[in-house]
Amino acid sequence: MKKIFLFSALLSLLCSSSEVIGQTVQQGKYVLVIHGGAGTILRKNMTSEKEQAYRQVLTLALEAGYKEIRAGKRSLDAVEAAIHVMEDSPLFNAGKGAVFTHDGRNELDAAIMDGKTLAAGSVAGVTTIRNPISAARAVMEKSEHVMMTGRGAEQFAKEAGLDIVAPSYFRTEERWQGLQKAIREDSLRAKLDHDDKKSSLLGIRSVDYKFGTVGAVALDKEGNLAAGTSTGGMTNKKYGRIGDAPVIGAGTYASNATAAISCTGWGEFFIRSVVAHDISALMEYKGASLSSAAKTVLAKVEKLGGDGGLIALDRKGNMTMPFNTAGMYRGCVTADGKIEVWIYKDQDNVK
Ligand code: ASP
Repeated sequence: MKKIFLFSALLSLLCSSSEVIGQTVQQGKYVLVIHGGAGTILRKNMTSEKEQAYRQVLTLALEAGYKEIRAGKRSLDAVEAAIHVMEDSPLFNAGKGAVFTHDGRNELDAAIMDGKTLAAGSVAGVTTIRNPISAARAVMEKSEHVMMTGRGAEQFAKEAGLDIVAPSYFRTEERWQGLQKAIREDSLRAKLDHDDKKSSLLGIRSVDYKFGTVGAVALDKEGNLAAGTSTGGMTNKKYGRIGDAPVIGAGTYASNATAAISCTGWGEFFIRSVVAHDISALMEYKGASLSSAAKTVLAKVEKLGGDGGLIALDRKGNMTMPFNTAGMYRGCVTADGKIEVWIYKDQDNVK
């Protein structure tokens, strides 16, 4: 018994020091980490204006969230504020700028979770709520439920006093063209590639421009963690399809005992791998470090055939942001307000 105890104490010492070295992260350093989706984001496909625009919105989102943390507000406030900025920007696949379903609609999903109490809220398949992350928070704080969908969630958001918009508010020409392209590619592939079992089994194909979800994880001055994710899902998805983002434990999870996690990627695989909770469980039950838990679970997703990435932050302020795609819009801010943003894989913060 004693030996086991000594061994696990040694193991956790080794894990925590290697995490710090491996990530060049100082304890207690990070207070807010965000992502704006993972996918085939390559320099060669990006104009410098577009890259600048992404960097600018990521920075604005980090500033908005950091403002809440600095003012002593809750990590939930920081998550909501950061996500609002990205939901309101047409650049990201959340809120305005969400991708289209096969039927040409924008159906949005979002979730938020409080690491202190394990309270959680989510909405799925909503079409009129300007900021779905706020609706998720309202479900968490103003109802006895965790998850609400479609018309009911929209009615609830209206009664909660949230901004309601016409479905056309979410439309952007770029996403509309994305849908047309996906429909063309899908029908072509269906003709050429009869035995692509994985795709036909799921009814969805992995076309990279389908990604672009947004998410945030935060740590406040009280030491409480929170996580949130908001998305339009995947281009050309079928009516009523719900992704991993609003599924607590799949795309979104937070516990003060372990970490706050927000995912992006091919949602069906993230649901089947229960990614966010699996990371938390590895930390809680096996004493894994944040970065090794995140890497292990993402490898599981990859083995199943899925791709994407995630951001995670623990109570000590360590963060990790692994992904197995060419890029992921991402950024973080330290307790003293230093902001950094990245887009591509070949940048030196890949952990
Ligand atoms: N995970 C999201 C979904 O499957 C898509 C994304 O991350 O872009 O709905």
